Amino acid sequence: MKKTIIFHDKPGKALTPQKKIDQHNLPFTLNSTIGCLFGCAYCYLQGFPFNLHTDFGKEVKVKTWIYERLDLELDKYRNLPQHLKRVQVNVASEGYLPDVRIKTKRELDRDIMAEILDTFKRHWEEGNCWMVHLMTKSHMVLKHLNNIQNMRNQVQLELTIATLNEQRKKILEKYAPSVKRRLDIIRKFSDAGIFVRIMCMPLIGTREEAGELRQICFDNGARAFKHKGVNYFDENALLAGEIVSEGGREDEVFEDLLVKSGEPVIENGEPMIMTVQMPTPKWDEFEDRDMVIEDTGYTEMNDIDWGYLR
Ligand code: SF4
Repeated sequence: MKKTIIFHDKPGKALTPQKKIDQHNLPFTLNSTIGCLFGCAYCYLQGFPFNLHTDFGKEVKVKTWIYERLDLELDKYRNLPQHLKRVQVNVASEGYLPDVRIKTKRELDRDIMAEILDTFKRHWEEGNCWMVHLMTKSHMVLKHLNNIQNMRNQVQLELTIATLNEQRKKILEKYAPSVKRRLDIIRKFSDAGIFVRIMCMPLIGTREEAGELRQICFDNGARAFKHKGVNYFDENALLAGEIVSEGGREDEVFEDLLVKSGEPVIENGEPMIMTVQMPTPKWDEFEDRDMVIEDTGYTEMNDIDWGYLR
């Protein structure tokens, strides 16, 4: 299959503030590319309006400008309440596509993801502390094991595994690395003292399969587990190798399987609540809001007060 990689040099925003902030949506997202070459069958990037920007699974645009904009924007948001300084990186892209890394190195002599990580690290060292949730399903992240180990107080590696079944993986995530390679990533990052969260999403399978997946990942050193069911697509059709769209529906989550991934902290049988400043959906003002105190694994990584996040 012919793949097209374009260097995108028209700067836009690096950080996207989110309208809704909850257990599944961090205050900010950052995507280092537009589009993706892994071509997962369940990926919403194949639909409108994302399909207007790239040819899904065949074309990707690399944001060569991103670290410079990130640097400016981290400064701009420097005075936000600490609990809002959290960003999910590559939630709608993949920063560790092998072809992209090779071409970017060969033609520009650059490493876009290293530049992004270095920018977050420098700000942290200057007292502007942001938590980075780094999403990937690529073994190429191992190239940055040392970089991330040096940032282990501020980076949670979020590794996506939707199934343990390699055959099923081939149907659902055609060009993405094998399950075996991803288990290897968990082991190597965990051995290096890095916090690894398994993103079992979308979960393709039963609750029992999710529990087994969690156990195997934890046996390999993962510390956190998060999942939700398939949205936008018919699950049975996906498993048959077909793509049948379905309207958005309620996320299916087996709450009792979550670990350090936004579960409420309980005291005397009740979820604990804290009042904190949160932005309105347009981020044009802030208001007091009662938030359920959530376990995110942060307190085992650093000594910073993250407000309602533990
Ligand atoms: S790796 Fe992520 S962004 Fe890429 S196709 Fe798969 S789900 Fe979509």
